[in-house]
Amino acid sequence: MLELTPDAVLLDRTAADWRDALAQAGQALIAAELVEPDYADALFEREAQSSTYLGNGIAIPHGTKPAARWVRQTGLRVLQFPDGVTWHDGNEVCVIVTIAAAGDQHLDILRQLTHVLDTPGVADRLARAERAEDVVALLSRAPVTGRLDKATIAARVPVASREGLTAIAAARLHDAGAAGPGFVAAAMAARPTELGDALWLVEACIDARQPALGLATPAEIDDVTGVFVLARPNAADGATQQAINELLARLLGVLEAGEGRRLAELDGAQLLGRLAGESAGAEVLRVRVRNAHGLHARPAKQLVQVAREQRLPIRVRLEAGGADAVSAASLTKVIGLGARRGQMLVFSAEGEGAAHALGAIADAVRGGLGEDVLPLEDTSEARPSRNKLTPVARAPAPAPDTPLAAVAASPGMAIAPVFVMRLPEFEYAETSDDSVGERKRLDAAIRAAYSQLTDLTQAADGGDMAEILSMHEEMLRDPELREAAVEAINEGASAEAGWWAAIDASARAQAALADRILAERAADLRDVGRRVLGRLCGVAMPAPPDHRYILIAEDIGPSDVAQLDTQRVKGLVTAKGGATSHSAILARSLGMPAVVGAGEGILSLVDGIDLIIDGERGRVVAEPSEARRARTEKAIAERAALEERAFAARHEPATTTDGVRIEVAANLGNTSHALDAVERGAEGVGLLRTEFIFMAHPQAPDLDTQMAEYRRAFDALGPHRPLVARTLDVGGDKPLDYWPVPPEDNPFLGLRGIRLALTRPAVLESQMRALIAASAGRPLRIMFPMVKDVAEFHAGKAIYDRVIADFDDVDVQLGVMIEIPSCALLAETLAPHVDFFSIGTNDLTQYTLAIDRGHPRLSAQADGLHPAVLRLIRMTVQAAAGQDCWVGVCGELASDAQAIGVLVGLGVDEVSVNARQIPLVKARIRELCQRDMSVRADKLLALGTAEAVREAVEAET
Ligand code: PEP
Ligand code: MG
Repeated sequence: MLELTPDAVLLDRTAADWRDALAQAGQALIAAELVEPDYADALFEREAQSSTYLGNGIAIPHGTKPAARWVRQTGLRVLQFPDGVTWHDGNEVCVIVTIAAAGDQHLDILRQLTHVLDTPGVADRLARAERAEDVVALLSRAPVTGRLDKATIAARVPVASREGLTAIAAARLHDAGAAGPGFVAAAMAARPTELGDALWLVEACIDARQPALGLATPAEIDDVTGVFVLARPNAADGATQQAINELLARLLGVLEAGEGRRLAELDGAQLLGRLAGESAGAEVLRVRVRNAHGLHARPAKQLVQVAREQRLPIRVRLEAGGADAVSAASLTKVIGLGARRGQMLVFSAEGEGAAHALGAIADAVRGGLGEDVLPLEDTSEARPSRNKLTPVARAPAPAPDTPLAAVAASPGMAIAPVFVMRLPEFEYAETSDDSVGERKRLDAAIRAAYSQLTDLTQAADGGDMAEILSMHEEMLRDPELREAAVEAINEGASAEAGWWAAIDASARAQAALADRILAERAADLRDVGRRVLGRLCGVAMPAPPDHRYILIAEDIGPSDVAQLDTQRVKGLVTAKGGATSHSAILARSLGMPAVVGAGEGILSLVDGIDLIIDGERGRVVAEPSEARRARTEKAIAERAALEERAFAARHEPATTTDGVRIEVAANLGNTSHALDAVERGAEGVGLLRTEFIFMAHPQAPDLDTQMAEYRRAFDALGPHRPLVARTLDVGGDKPLDYWPVPPEDNPFLGLRGIRLALTRPAVLESQMRALIAASAGRPLRIMFPMVKDVAEFHAGKAIYDRVIADFDDVDVQLGVMIEIPSCALLAETLAPHVDFFSIGTNDLTQYTLAIDRGHPRLSAQADGLHPAVLRLIRMTVQAAAGQDCWVGVCGELASDAQAIGVLVGLGVDEVSVNARQIPLVKARIRELCQRDMSVRADKLLALGTAEAVREAVEAET
């Protein structure tokens, strides 16, 4: 993806000729250390193959494919030649966008550029721009594309009423991720517009996330031919408005062509064709892209040439993802499709000779458009990943009735039978001569998998799990998946290889989508794919039991945790992972006991064996004896009683026995949870992870959207409870799709947190403006993440000072997170300048102990009770003393039952924990004497290891 800063723009250049201009472009890449010097020659080699002139006065030189090895880092340099340079193909070039990229990144850059360059007048403005910032602004505009595709269309549904069809079309937009849950109700309440031909249009703004057009047509026409539903996002900027207009133009195109009445006769694919501008009489031909890097500039150029050689206009669109058909004779449009290997192109043409013209173009695509192409079924991608757990499962299982120490990730205790999630391994032949037999096998397997899914959906009896399973049913019914598999089978693949090739191509296309939520569906597609493969290979898929169980897995991603059926899953144990991984944080927010990093032997447990999980102490015990089971059951009952008492007193302050008040606040990633936190006794929000708000949007939320988000938290907190908002903390383990960071060897030591935010001061400025405006005089605390020293704080503060000057009557404090050891060591130099410190023990531990917090093997040792970390906390507290600077702890250590006394002993003023933990944390603080804890903390600081600290703490409890 394109990442452009003003220093990448070189204005006002002159060149003797195109060679001189290209040499300057190469030098610019070398000087920026994006490429090795040899790459400059490759730019000339590439021009010798074919011109990189793109149109609109712009050339996009880049190296040949073998030159990818000289690319150090993806990036670009933009050179402006206001007087123009005559390119070797005779075109006049004013702007050179020269690219350093290897592989697929190249396609993304081109795709984004074509969206930008297509806009009328942009080329001219680029050539005349007087400031680098203006060039950046022109090139960095994120494209807004409207959704109208397979996922937004429901053809011939068994519903005839206008209301029913409206609900279905609106629900499609919601399921496709283009609208939130409030949208469906808004669409139902909106006044429909009659379009003629018994077609209706319903428009709604509420919860519309992206311009999108849904359509539902009835299986049997009563008096409605179909209902279109338009998602029209509220904050419609120019690009959004243009996307909306394009969607409406497609709709009008169908009506003007007099095709409205016939829409209800068409299936989904035909509907998309009509809406993409293909008339009923058009010839249509589908061809799959086989080029390794998709339709990047060179093959696209060949395609365009073949299209121009035909006597008829030819249009082309991508079958999946978006339905917009474009002229196959336009280079920018064809590149703009962003077609990847495996994706299906749909060509259409009308009139005499259309079939011949399409045949010529299809031959050219199949022939590779000037590149060597591999047949799709030959790739290693076509195989499902082998079961990574097989060798792991050979590690010996934990001995019966013996505690196994691991990492406490989420408190709580449970006893239940285990279910070990193992991905099966599939063995099959890649090829077969019997395509008829293979097709029959595939169809039988799809049918069997479908009925298995239907049974499971019914058994799931509602809830998230049922929703996921029925989504899988839908995926399995997708005719295109089968068609793609059959195509591969017809070319000699076995049913298994053909099916997996289709699944893999589709999952890859899905994963490449910019919308994170849609991209995550790639995992669902693979799940569905495995289910069919299981039937083909006679391998049973692991089916979770229908009773309560403890889930054991090698590792589990945040999205998997979010999908767990909390009614049945009583606990979670992983072989890998650490306490501060984001999946552990999610398990805590679900209130589910979790132990992570239990080692590979845990995967050897036999399904159905009883296991005790103790998420507080980080222990599991398999096959417990009767006596241990009885003790555990008693402890569970006692804990339940303790929780009940703590809950009853949750709104009381947390004051130690010797009268020291510790504020207990909540960590939030979603402002809609603020009310729940207050109801659980939170005295404020101690850490709002604002990046999760950004991640929930497909593009950076604008000022109004952010204000609405933040205001929701302030309204829930009321006039006196403070909100501590951390400015955007992207990078490391939290990537943001629309703010890509160039690949780094050590992302945790790279461009993240405040370092990254400072590269786009405008984003930081608008975030602080939105926060302060939303606070409207209520207590707001802003803190910068990943600050390494006072200079970085001042860089952030300079932006804050500019913003705050525009407001009166505010209650704002400015602080830093203590997450990097340098900041704790230098806390004395920071304390006079800041209002508060909030210690992020997750990162502070990772950087102090040099252990990646998500490291599959080591993160278990990243223990915040390590004396080295405790000493840094002590230093921070001491530096703040007497400086009118309060100290909080917002890392996961504050939720650790053994740690809370240590933190109180070290003298912190506030702790911020997961909202569910608040009543218990408060209850624990009320049992402590701060003076005693302080004396004990001095002794703990003298110890040498985290284990020694834990042992000492445990000995006292
Ligand atoms: C931390 O590092 O302790 C912290 C609270 O931030 P995050 O976990 O979001 O990195
Ligand atoms: Mg952090």
